[in-house]
Amino acid sequence: MTEAPSSGLSEYTGRGIYLHAHGKQYIDCASGTFNLSLGYSAKEVVDALHAQLDRCLHLSSDFTREKSLEIFEMMREFLPPHIGAFWFRDITGSGATEGAIRIAQKATGKSDIFSLFLSHHGQTVGATGVSGNAFRHRSFSLPFANSVKIPAPDCANCFYSQRPDRCGMLCATRLEDFVEYASSGQVAALIVEPVLGNGGNIVPPPGYFRVLRETCDKLGVLIIADEVQTGFGRTGSFFASTGFAQELRPDIITFAKGAGGVGIPVAGVLMRPELDVLEPWEHSTTSGANPLALVALEETVRYLRDHRVLENVATVGGPLHQGLTDLARRFPNVSNVRGVGLMQAFDLPTSLDVQSFIRVAREHGLIVRGSRYGFGRTVKIRPPLIITPDEVRELLVRLSDALRTYEREGRP
Ligand code: PMP
Repeated sequence: MTEAPSSGLSEYTGRGIYLHAHGKQYIDCASGTFNLSLGYSAKEVVDALHAQLDRCLHLSSDFTREKSLEIFEMMREFLPPHIGAFWFRDITGSGATEGAIRIAQKATGKSDIFSLFLSHHGQTVGATGVSGNAFRHRSFSLPFANSVKIPAPDCANCFYSQRPDRCGMLCATRLEDFVEYASSGQVAALIVEPVLGNGGNIVPPPGYFRVLRETCDKLGVLIIADEVQTGFGRTGSFFASTGFAQELRPDIITFAKGAGGVGIPVAGVLMRPELDVLEPWEHSTTSGANPLALVALEETVRYLRDHRVLENVATVGGPLHQGLTDLARRFPNVSNVRGVGLMQAFDLPTSLDVQSFIRVAREHGLIVRGSRYGFGRTVKIRPPLIITPDEVRELLVRLSDALRTYEREGRP
């Protein structure tokens, strides 16, 4: 584990994409915990939160139903037309995962849930149970009996040892065999991250989402898009499934993390109207749909719209990707640059290199995170969505300096 800069909350101040601590300024390439979509200090959001703090901090979700509906109506311009219902009673992505599973199970009367190797859908018992990351399962008995894991669309490490140009997309088409031989035969839904985030920023190959949709249609399996990381603009469209992954046409979408804009926890589930099947007492928590969460959600959507944040991601995502590709050309240990929008990553030779590089990057004023999943060699670059072209250039200069130091003295 990398040491955090130090203790004492008063030491930390966040402004825009920068975190200031102990007299040092860092560009936060991890957007906090991938949740500060609007950076540390988006003024309109923070002002609205202050105003709500002065009014009241908590209301039961009975009193906030109308506000939730208002926010959903406001979000609609960003949603596919077939999404017509919502459930905003969660504040964590794990809760949203479990809400989506409940919806799929109740609506279909079926039990099983497909998910991908290397996937991450949260850390509660149910959400961990459907996540395809073995290291989080190791020490526990996680009683999610109806979880069936299938190979991920990870072409660099193809489960079927195929080449992408002639693989027949086995990772999507062989679903039929998993229904037949690995499930109870009663599969309610498949849950999928459009870019496998924790799994190593894996971007599925072109055509994957279409084939997956066709296969699920054939088998009568619903699709849940877990957009906890990709959601609210990270890949340049409101959801990945309204942009580069639109062929997925999910029946259910979950969101969390960046939906709170400046770090306020809020999460939710969106779905086809006919999937609006839960009773309030079937999936809600004490803090679900609390006023601060709803204010953060509403103001984040408004900010994204009014400040044209999606356009910004599309504008700066290309130069960031290009800059990383250039670094891979200059630094032999950097490889496999990949990503969409502001969800970028590259690999270093080993997981020890990644740990060492994270430390060196800190010295150069950069906060980056690695991936413990899969092969653990990934460094993720995901700054807040409000980053400007000049700030992208500054980020790349710091990254280049950090890589130079790492290659000179940081290799394990
Ligand atoms: N889904 C995805 C794709 C995530 O990345 C995460 C968190 N890393 C979750 C779900 C769970 O969210 P939370 O930590 O808010 O429970």
